[in-house]
Amino acid sequence: MGESKINKIERAANIIKMLYNEYPDSKCSLNYKSAHQLLVATILSAQCTDHRVNIVTKDLFLKYKKPSDFAYCKITDLAKDIHSCGYYNQKSKSIQGASLRIVEDHNGNVPDSMEELIKLPGVGRKTANCILGEYYGQPSVVIDTHMVRIMNLLGFTKSKEPKKIELELMNIFEEKDWVKLTHMIIDHGRAVCIARRPKCNKCNLSTICPSRIKE
Ligand code: SF4
Repeated sequence: MGESKINKIERAANIIKMLYNEYPDSKCSLNYKSAHQLLVATILSAQCTDHRVNIVTKDLFLKYKKPSDFAYCKITDLAKDIHSCGYYNQKSKSIQGASLRIVEDHNGNVPDSMEELIKLPGVGRKTANCILGEYYGQPSVVIDTHMVRIMNLLGFTKSKEPKKIELELMNIFEEKDWVKLTHMIIDHGRAVCIARRPKCNKCNLSTICPSRIKE
């Protein structure tokens, strides 16, 4: 029989405490000064490191100062400017398409609802949740590859499907912890629970992780 919901909630509360203890300073590592800059940086971060995105956006945001600069630029120039982030053709199309919609339908303002955000070209739930949680301060759970992998290892889901995981976690973790949870799990995934070679003997969650490897 699967673990009861009460048990999962109790385990989640303990894990959150341990994560806060280990990663008190976890936060979004993308640099931005506006909702639109965060949107651009988040689109660029797909399959790319935040470090690389920050290098690229440092010059990009000097050249393209407002949403309309992205909306009406020559797309081949934009693709060249973001080249080193990878998938530059797709990403430049998404950035320009979303910026155009923001300028023409939203008066230049990035929408603050999931419903409107996911209507923007190239914007999925992950990017939308990032904007909502990070910029607009709305409780939201971003599900990236670290979250999918580690939430499976911690036994909070058996799914690989981000939307399903998002809803499952919202039922288990307290709303006040949602935004920080993702940042702490990303840090944990980079430092300790590394894909294919988790350092379980160095992990402070090992006492309550059902997937710990005993060495
Ligand atoms: S005990 Fe191992 S598998 Fe579980 S969270 Fe820690 S590093 Fe990952």
